[in-house]
Amino acid sequence: MAGTGTQIIVGLEVHCQLDTKSKLFCGCSTDYRSDAPNTHVCPVCLGLPGAMPVLNKRSIEYAMRVAKALNCSVLQKSEFSRKNYFYPDLDKAYQITQYDKPLAEGGYLEIESDEGGEKRVRLTRIHVEEDPGRLVHMGNAERGRYSLVDYNRAGIPLIEIVSEPDMRSPREARKFLNKLRATLEYLGVFDSEKEGSLRVDANISIVGSERVEVKNITSYKGVEKALTFEVTRQKNLLRRGQKVDRETRHFLEARGITQSARSKEQEHDYRYFPEPDLRPLHVQSWVDGITLPELPDARRERFMVQYGCSVNHARTLTGELRIANFYENVVAPDPKGLATPAATWIADTLIGELNYRSMSLDAVECGDFTALIRLIKEGTITDKSGVEVLRVMLDQRLNNQPCETPAAIIQRLDLGKTPSDDAALLPVISEVIAQNPKAVEDYRNGVDASGNFLVGQAMKKTRGKSDPRVLNRLFLKAVRNKEA
Ligand SMILES: [Zn+2]
Repeated sequence: MAGTGTQIIVGLEVHCQLDTKSKLFCGCSTDYRSDAPNTHVCPVCLGLPGAMPVLNKRSIEYAMRVAKALNCSVLQKSEFSRKNYFYPDLDKAYQITQYDKPLAEGGYLEIESDEGGEKRVRLTRIHVEEDPGRLVHMGNAERGRYSLVDYNRAGIPLIEIVSEPDMRSPREARKFLNKLRATLEYLGVFDSEKEGSLRVDANISIVGSERVEVKNITSYKGVEKALTFEVTRQKNLLRRGQKVDRETRHFLEARGITQSARSKEQEHDYRYFPEPDLRPLHVQSWVDGITLPELPDARRERFMVQYGCSVNHARTLTGELRIANFYENVVAPDPKGLATPAATWIADTLIGELNYRSMSLDAVECGDFTALIRLIKEGTITDKSGVEVLRVMLDQRLNNQPCETPAAIIQRLDLGKTPSDDAALLPVISEVIAQNPKAVEDYRNGVDASGNFLVGQAMKKTRGKSDPRVLNRLFLKAVRNKEA
C-alpha cells in the first residue's frame, strides 16, 4: 500500500540471571531450581520491614565483565533506585533496580547480518537489578482459581541489556540473542541451560507505524517466533488500511501468537526514587583490572587457523561455549587427524541429534565421541552406520540405560563395514541386476537416477554397511561396461 514502509525495526531488552552463588542483596543461595518453593528466602529477599540489603560485590564484578566485553562505558557514578508497583511476585512492593544512572551505557555487539558480513548492533545501556519472585497460576492466568508464589527467585541478580533498534528482521534478533548468550557464557557469568535464566522484551515496528512491545518471552526460539508473528500481524493490518496500535502484547508460547495485554497494564507510573538503603556505586576504576577471556569471535578465528575449520563450521562450533569446549576435547588426542571429521560430525550431525532429543551436550562423553570419529575415519564403519551408532549412544544416555562404547555397539548390531573388495560385493551386484531389469535397462540408456536406485538396492542388501562409492563403480562397470 502506498506510503507504508515494509522495513522492520527491532530492539531488544534482555534480562539475564547472573550466575553468582548468592543473591544480589542477601546470602541466600541461587541454586534453587530443584528445591521446594520458598526454601531459599530470608528477611531481606522476603522484604520484611527493617531488613537491610547488602550488595553482592561479585554480581557487580560480573556485570562489569559484560560491560567491558560489550564495549560499554561504565559510568563514573551509578545508583540503585526503587521501582514501585504492586504485584504478588514482588514481596516488598518495589523492585531494586537502576533507573537514570545505570552501571554502563553505549557499546555494541557484532552479529552476522542477513546480508552476510558482520553488523554492529548498538547498545543503549546495561543495568543491574533484582529478579522478582515467580507466580505459578493454577489453571490458566485468566480463569485459574488461584496462583501460588515462590520467592526462591526473588533477589537473584539480573542484568538488563537494552539494545538500540538496530535489528531488521526476526532472524537478526535471534542472531543477536545467540551471540549475546555465547558472549555471556564465555565470560563465565551466565548459564543458558538453567531454566528461566533469560527473559526478553522485544520492540518491533514497521517504519512509519507505531511500535509494539512483546513482553516476557522466555526462550531463544520464542523471540524469533513472536517477532515473526508480529511482522505478519502488523503487515496484514496495514494492508487492510488499518493502523497498528501502540501497545504491549504477551507472547503465548504454546500457541505461537501474541495477544494484547489489557490496556490498564500499560499505564505505569513506577514513582522511581533513589534506593535510600544502598550507596551509589563508584566502580569505573575496576574496568582496567578486568582481563577478558577469549571471546566467541576470537575463538572462531582461531578454529579456522588452528584446525582448518570452514567459516560456517567455525561459527557453529564457537557459537556456544559447551560446543567449542567439546570440540577441542574431542580433537585433543590427535588434532591433525581428527580436526576435520570432528568438525563435520559435531556441526552437521551431533547438534541436530541433540536438539531432536532436547538433550544437553553435557550428556555426551567426549572420549566415546572421539572413538566413534576414529572408527568412521579408519573405515571400520560407513558414515551411515556412524549415524546409527551415534543415535544408539544418545538414546542410551537419554533413557538412563547402561552406556556401551561405540565399538561394543558396532559389534552387537553387526555394523562393521562389509569388505569393500570387489569379489565380496560381486554376488550382491549380480543379484540386484537380476532382480531389477527395468532399472538396469534405464541405467544402460544413460538414466543416472537408475544407477542411484541400483546402489540403494545393494546398500539395502548389505544393510548399509558397504561403501556406496565402490558399489557405484561396480554397477558402472557391470552395466555400462565402463571403468569409473
Ligand atoms: Zn535472602
